[in-house]
Amino acid sequence: MRYDDFVPPTSRRGPWRGPVSSAVALACACLTATGCGMADGGPAPGDAKADAPRPASSLAASPGPASPPAPEPSATSPSGAATSARPKPASGGPLSGRTVVIDPGHNPGNRDHTREINSQVDIGTGRKECDTTGTATNAGYAEALFTLDVSRRLRALLEERGAKVVLTQDGERPFGPCVDERARIGNKAGADAVVSVHADGSAAGNRGFHVILPAAVSGGDADTSKIVAPSRELGVRIAGNFVRTTGSAPSNYIGGDTGLDTRGDLGGLNLSTVPKVFIECGNMRDPEDAALLTSASWRQKAALGIAEGIGSYLKR
Ligand code: ZN
Repeated sequence: MRYDDFVPPTSRRGPWRGPVSSAVALACACLTATGCGMADGGPAPGDAKADAPRPASSLAASPGPASPPAPEPSATSPSGAATSARPKPASGGPLSGRTVVIDPGHNPGNRDHTREINSQVDIGTGRKECDTTGTATNAGYAEALFTLDVSRRLRALLEERGAKVVLTQDGERPFGPCVDERARIGNKAGADAVVSVHADGSAAGNRGFHVILPAAVSGGDADTSKIVAPSRELGVRIAGNFVRTTGSAPSNYIGGDTGLDTRGDLGGLNLSTVPKVFIECGNMRDPEDAALLTSASWRQKAALGIAEGIGSYLKR
């Protein structure tokens, strides 16, 4: 497998435009306080975004229809029990000696532990909810199931290439972890790269993926000064490879067609001391994106794009 085939993202709407405006972060659709498409993407207390109008429907109040789509094959068992049966990282692979932490956004059990996940944690620059429930497609396929499936596929691809892979959660815990702990897991692992996997919950018609890069922030335990540049490099390479493997276009609602956004309000980025990005693989509330996100074969392409982006970054 080659890792030097990085191509910058292109868009159906035009060529790669380079740097992204942080202002577009305001467009992030966060449906409810506990139903944001981003684990710690909800507005902080006092944040102007908290006062933005919200759709009448509440994900927290309506966790999905009675008949979710039939399950598709997943990379491992839902319980994560396949963990111990997985092959060891390939020795001598191109990523031998490298450690990658994968953070599957949210947790399928979060909806049953609202008190715990609504508790506030210190993200250095302020306080945020421990975690959120995540979003879902209109047919009830939960973001937390999507993130676990893509993360397990990504782990398998990275281990094939010789990397040591750590997941922040593997479906084995009842809820969480909190966003601060998710960051610390990457830090303690001494990760060479960390990717937090998500799908967004924005309005229908908003389509495409975007990678979220850490802004330069400082406060309390948060200091991203050393990770801003390498995280951007990581994010650009993931975005470029994601375009190539999935055929998806960069977001048409965040990032000005670059597929890149920069945010300073995410605890999972603010508290990271190692290169880290989030990826919103698509918009679960858009029917066309949802058709992709619920396809096992598309999720494999998504995992491949992320894996090759990480490989490209680690080989640079
Ligand atoms: Zn999310």
